[in-house]
Amino acid sequence: YLVTKQHKDKTIISIKELEIGGNKSVVISGPCSIESEDILRKIALDMKESGVDILRGGAFKPRTSPYDFQGLGRVGIDILCKIGNEMDIPVITEIMDVRELEYMIDKVDILQVGSRNMYNYPLLKELGRIDKPVLLKRGLSATIKEFLLSAEYIMLEGNEKVILCERGIRTYENYMRNTMDIASIALLKEMTHLPIIADPSHATGKRSLIETLSKTAVAAGADGVLIEAHIKPDSAWSDGKQTINIPILRDIIRTLYYTDEVM
Ligand code: PEP
Ligand code: MN
Repeated sequence: YLVTKQHKDKTIISIKELEIGGNKSVVISGPCSIESEDILRKIALDMKESGVDILRGGAFKPRTSPYDFQGLGRVGIDILCKIGNEMDIPVITEIMDVRELEYMIDKVDILQVGSRNMYNYPLLKELGRIDKPVLLKRGLSATIKEFLLSAEYIMLEGNEKVILCERGIRTYENYMRNTMDIASIALLKEMTHLPIIADPSHATGKRSLIETLSKTAVAAGADGVLIEAHIKPDSAWSDGKQTINIPILRDIIRTLYYTDEVM
């Protein structure tokens, strides 16, 4: 299997000067959804000042209810890329439909496959044929084996730039949105050479837990974190309850840099 340590010892994915899977923890942050150019610019300015490495923002949103905001679509992609270029910060956004690949491919730096699409094998195969990093989120209730096999689908087509993302799984526990599988991070580090990013936002659904679980994930071996943050978390158009504000994001980044130094 291409995902195993037998195939390769370590994968480091470079985006300009940035390394994912290198010695320093990577911080991916931004709002759940792109809402407007003005709001995203304000958020991105703060992100840049806070030391965020990659700006995230959803334009195609996989919402549980079809009545909820579905994202700005291509308009959102254009906004994200305009602001990424303006601020010289790499951008990541989710691709849900293979028909949007052509529109997105030259604009974004990393394509995210959301939890709901981890089993979308035609999409994974298409993403295997491009030369662009793919952040693959663990399926809502995927086993580690299924998760790794989905990464294998991408790699088998030729694209070895795969980043795994642990974003919590469904268990009987329902006080939190999902159960963050910290042990899977440590285990995946033993099993695969691919970088692993932790997403405490979707894993817990609770903003009060983001700081603790970010630190915990990095201590378990994660190569970085993906955190939803906004200038006004309570007025975010989606996932507000798990979205943190910029001062808390800054504290987390400071702690992670410190952790990198001592580990
Ligand atoms: C997201 O990153 O906004 C998202 C929808 O994540 P997930 O696919 O993990 O639910
Ligand atoms: Mn979200």
